[in-house]
Amino acid sequence: LLQQIQSHYPDAREDSKSVYKAGDKNPLKTFHDLPMAIRRYKDKGANFTKLSRFYVDTAFFYAHDEQEELVADPFTAVPVVPGASASFFNHSIKRNQLPVFNPRNCTGCGDCFVHCPHSALPPIVIGFEQLLKTAANIATSKGKLILKFSPVIKNLAKLAGKFIKEKDVENAQDILIPAFENLSTQMKWDGEKLEILRTEFNAILDEIGAMPMAITDTFYKLPRLISKDNGELFSLAINPSACTGCSICAQVCEEEALSMQTKDEKRESEIKHQFAIWEKLPDTSGETINRLYHDKDYSSLSALFLSRNYYMTMTGASNSELHNPYKILLHVITATAEAVVQPKIISQLKSLDKLIHDLSEQIHKKLSSALPKDNFEELSKSLRKANGEINTVEEMVQDMSAAGHDHYIDSVDLSRKVDLVEDLKKIKWTLTEGPTGVGRSRYGFLLGGAQSMDWAREFPANHFSNPLVIHWSGSAPQQSLGLFYGHLRHTIEYVKKMRQAVLEIKDGYDPETNFKEISALDWDQLTIEEKKYIPPILLIAERSDLNQGGWNDLNKLLAGNYPIKVILMDHMASSVKSSLAEINQTFSGLLSVMSTKNAFVFQGGMGDSEHLFSGLMDGMDKPFPALFNLYATKMDKHNNANLSWSLYASLVLNSRAFPSLRYDPSINGSFLSGAIELEGNRNKFKDWVEEELNVGNDDTISYKVSWADWAFTQKQWREKFEAIELKNDVILLTDFLQLDQRARKSVIPAILRGVAEGVKYYTVSPEVVEISETVLSNWNTIQELAGLRTEFPLKLKEEVEKKLQSRYLKAEAELKRKYDEQLKNQEAAQAEIMRQKLKDKLLSLSLMANRKVKS
Ligand code: SF4
Ligand code: SF4
Repeated sequence: LLQQIQSHYPDAREDSKSVYKAGDKNPLKTFHDLPMAIRRYKDKGANFTKLSRFYVDTAFFYAHDEQEELVADPFTAVPVVPGASASFFNHSIKRNQLPVFNPRNCTGCGDCFVHCPHSALPPIVIGFEQLLKTAANIATSKGKLILKFSPVIKNLAKLAGKFIKEKDVENAQDILIPAFENLSTQMKWDGEKLEILRTEFNAILDEIGAMPMAITDTFYKLPRLISKDNGELFSLAINPSACTGCSICAQVCEEEALSMQTKDEKRESEIKHQFAIWEKLPDTSGETINRLYHDKDYSSLSALFLSRNYYMTMTGASNSELHNPYKILLHVITATAEAVVQPKIISQLKSLDKLIHDLSEQIHKKLSSALPKDNFEELSKSLRKANGEINTVEEMVQDMSAAGHDHYIDSVDLSRKVDLVEDLKKIKWTLTEGPTGVGRSRYGFLLGGAQSMDWAREFPANHFSNPLVIHWSGSAPQQSLGLFYGHLRHTIEYVKKMRQAVLEIKDGYDPETNFKEISALDWDQLTIEEKKYIPPILLIAERSDLNQGGWNDLNKLLAGNYPIKVILMDHMASSVKSSLAEINQTFSGLLSVMSTKNAFVFQGGMGDSEHLFSGLMDGMDKPFPALFNLYATKMDKHNNANLSWSLYASLVLNSRAFPSLRYDPSINGSFLSGAIELEGNRNKFKDWVEEELNVGNDDTISYKVSWADWAFTQKQWREKFEAIELKNDVILLTDFLQLDQRARKSVIPAILRGVAEGVKYYTVSPEVVEISETVLSNWNTIQELAGLRTEFPLKLKEEVEKKLQSRYLKAEAELKRKYDEQLKNQEAAQAEIMRQKLKDKLLSLSLMANRKVKS
């Protein structure tokens, strides 16, 4: 891209200067009024690639509704928007209310920050010491003197834990003030010393004292059971420009630790201040994240989002709240992709560091061995010859050789090695810094399809921190393949250099033979480890954008070797006319991808976020293609747009409209059943999920949920249901589907709803019956494929179980025999020891008796 800009705008670097002159009202004047993305990213590189530049010359005018002021700029001439530019837009004017955090009720579960659609609720987990040190740094940066207090921070942090009275803790000062007073008594501070320390402590409190802090079991109490030095505080910050007051966070918080309140100036300035502090605090530690990630009682997604690295993979609010479920899902996808790729980059960097180190060592050794060790006469002559100029090592070595010094240097070999070290350093720079200062993006992604996710295409707001290509027309699969080839070309160049370095370090690189071999490297010859160096390409589209041709293109893409990850967002709320065809098309699409045994296939959604997370992590990590069909609620398609979208996510799963499915072709076995799992589904052996339905007066009844219950929630299907009084010929749809065609003629299929007065029945139309039957048949097919239904796998399972049991019994018998034998031997040995002891004792007694007799 940069090359393209440079070729189209050869003078861009010189001519593309800020339009603001000295004295102008420059939007970049006040650092704290800058959008967070500009503060966060390093903003290096050529002028026309800079985020700040894009803000000043383009986005600023959009953000302030002054488009007529736009100036001609390379950025506006190419269809490119830098990452995270959505954070330039301040949505504070539009909101009427703001969340209020009550730390006393908070458990730190993470539901709120995972479900915030605008990534406006970043969390932080921090220890006392770090909190105090950061506050001291902030105070110092504002010109306040923190000299005497710094050395006592450690002691104060240690003491802070002792004075926590959970019920009284609402913010940092509730913990720190009693701790300070106690420390001052313990240390017997008084007079001027106490005054200075108190002034400095107050300066620290000014910064972080009002920061809400929660004392939770997860972060504080449980870690302290292991060591009294452990225990961290939990807090939430609210991004003042991104929070739209949508109230999702308050809706999902079961502990009522978040509530919505009408906004006012005081609250606005509070959240601004707290967010500024959050930005300066260090990220939640890797250790804490890792601990929670492996804690089965803590949500893996929450653990991931505790790190701002992952939380900030998407930023900025949208103009409409309608697409919130899509944004939440995409946030999970981007964070997971980042989490999968980061360790691979770290591993590549480690390998690069080692190669650079080993090769540099070798170069040094070669150079030093080429120079004399004790006779410095010739060396000194050579240095004098340079006459003040710097002479190259090669010149010196040549002088030594001419003088009879017998260590020669192969300058061709040496300069090749030196160049190689430089190349390796450049690769490292590209990965860690690059022209933008933040290194190569972890993955690339392409938003395909004609209507896909309009909210993500609003110029100039880019919500993603990794490069995004928006593709309006033509074939997205081919485009994503093109992107992949671009990455592959670069990665193969890196791998070639790394492979050459491995040989050079052993002095085993022969340019004649190895060059040819290494230059011919392609994807198939890369090792599994090397394949991991290639950033995955995510192709994201709405499932409803795909026609049969689109599915065929996807099939071809997924039958290939490359790790292209196709993500379809499926709202499962199509029209009466098209639903059946779309359900069948998607189902056969998934089956045909599975039948190639080449791609990872996953279907799921936020209805089971743990399953979704593990499926995404697994599929993204595979060095081969993957297809994710993910459910995303389209609120405007449903009768009750105010209902929490997460309820729709559960219903679509439990009605079998969108069952969870995971297929991993790398699991060996000749049967698909070994590679397919349906763990994310409730009652996976049964046709339908049985739920307890509230029917008023605290009564519940057991009810089988079907696709009809899902259709009932949708605007387009509402007229296909009619309220009916319960009569003898009315039967539940799930029972109706068990009947043959003849029996069906004499009954009316219906679904029921629990209402305050009891139960209400609704008849279902033939279209609803037809699709419910199709959905059931598709579910039964998946069950069969997964080996949960047909007799054969069950028989096989029984056989395997029998075999295992007999093997176990044999092993148990053998173990018992060995144990008995060992016991017998031990008993015998013990008896022998006792016998020997007894014998010795008797012997000594008889000796004593003899002695007595003699005496
Ligand atoms: S959802 Fe509620 S309890 Fe859970 S972390 Fe958020 S505020 Fe705390
Ligand atoms: S109100 Fe909405 S935007 Fe604001 S923090 Fe809560 S979920 Fe996020």
